[in-house]
Amino acid sequence: MALIVQKYGGTSVGSIERIANVARRIKSWHDQGHRLCVIVSAMSGVTDQLISQAKQLNPHPNDREMDSLLSTGEQVTISLLAIALHAIGVPAESFTGARAGILTDGTHTKARIRNISPERVLASLQNGNVGIIAGFQGQNDEGYITTLGRGGSDLSAIAMAAALKADVCQIYTDVDGVYTTDPRIVPTAKKIPVLSYDEMLEMASLGSKVMQARSVEFAKKFNVPFEVRSSLTETEGTLVKSETPDMESVVVRGVSLDRKQAKITITGVPDKPGFASRLFRALADAAINVDMIVQNISAAGVTDISFTVGSDELDKARRAAQPVITTLGATGMLAQEGIAKLSIVGIGMKSHSGVAAKMFESLAAAGVNIQMISTSEIKVSVIIEESLADQAVRAVHDAFGLSA
Ligand code: ADP
Ligand code: ASP
Ligand code: MG
Repeated sequence: MALIVQKYGGTSVGSIERIANVARRIKSWHDQGHRLCVIVSAMSGVTDQLISQAKQLNPHPNDREMDSLLSTGEQVTISLLAIALHAIGVPAESFTGARAGILTDGTHTKARIRNISPERVLASLQNGNVGIIAGFQGQNDEGYITTLGRGGSDLSAIAMAAALKADVCQIYTDVDGVYTTDPRIVPTAKKIPVLSYDEMLEMASLGSKVMQARSVEFAKKFNVPFEVRSSLTETEGTLVKSETPDMESVVVRGVSLDRKQAKITITGVPDKPGFASRLFRALADAAINVDMIVQNISAAGVTDISFTVGSDELDKARRAAQPVITTLGATGMLAQEGIAKLSIVGIGMKSHSGVAAKMFESLAAAGVNIQMISTSEIKVSVIIEESLADQAVRAVHDAFGLSA
């Protein structure tokens, strides 16, 4: 008999029939005598719809109110799932993030978990209930509801698994594992049986939205192995765990694509100390994640700085950068949407050469221009035009022989 944490994502609970299906699956584990703590997302599309409704009323909605709004999606699902379980004779109790003891910092819309006090959940499991916890949400010191960033139910699940010292953590979704690339773009992509935390972390950070990046970071930090599986089939999924020596034999494990990228270029920057520090401090203070940064060589005492941000933060980034530009006297700011980041990931890159060259050759052959490049020990990323992204992914995926 094990303590099992399961997480069901938006599609898996996307309709009344799907919720009933999840309830039946939970029942079969419960009938085997396991203790179950289940984390659920909002029904698919609900979070997006709430964001769009808020933005129709106010293009710059207050982050605290957004958290209060967005957390409602998950609360619908926990109650419906508990009701569905009661209907088939399974005792179950639903918990908001706050009641489950999930305490976060105060960074509304992307709060970090500080501490979990799982006593109430444990007591409920002890009484024979299935505990059903609203993913994506917590509360801060002052009792305000916070949310954990898009896709944050993954983080709720991993963090609960750590806090409860669960024996198993299963992430149920609409694919039966992590693939060499998004199977919606390349139908011949292969399922990866085992991945290291670092590879999963890079893939997730680089746009493979099958797992939220911060949840993988948490799993790595607290060593919480987890399995990504399908909520519709019984097939074995992908196990994500700490690195083992044999994992290095594969050079490129996967190809990731992030379409939600935007580029800002500051032109005519005075070429003297202090501009970059002021600019990136202003962006950091506005809690904006800056990704790639390129500064070109200055010709006549001025230079250009380009950087990328998530497209949903473009507006915020422009507003944070504007005062620095005005004060320090750069000439202007250009914002570009319609770009994407394509990356290859694999821990085997540490010990192989020529990997980047091969990637660039395959992009050239596919007629895809590279706008920016960045590398780390286990990844190579390029910024390309979004409209060419799918064909670029296929070309790179083929070049590294990743198809089934
Ligand atoms: P959930 O609602 O269950 O959290 P998501 O939509 O967040 O599910 O994540 C699952 C989706 O991730 C899949 O439908 C798939 O299109 C996408 N995806 C992107 N990259 C990959 C990958 N490398 N392997 C598997 N799925 C991927
Ligand atoms: N409902 C939230 C979102 O859509 C959290 C999640 O699904 O994990 O981002
Ligand atoms: Mg998700």
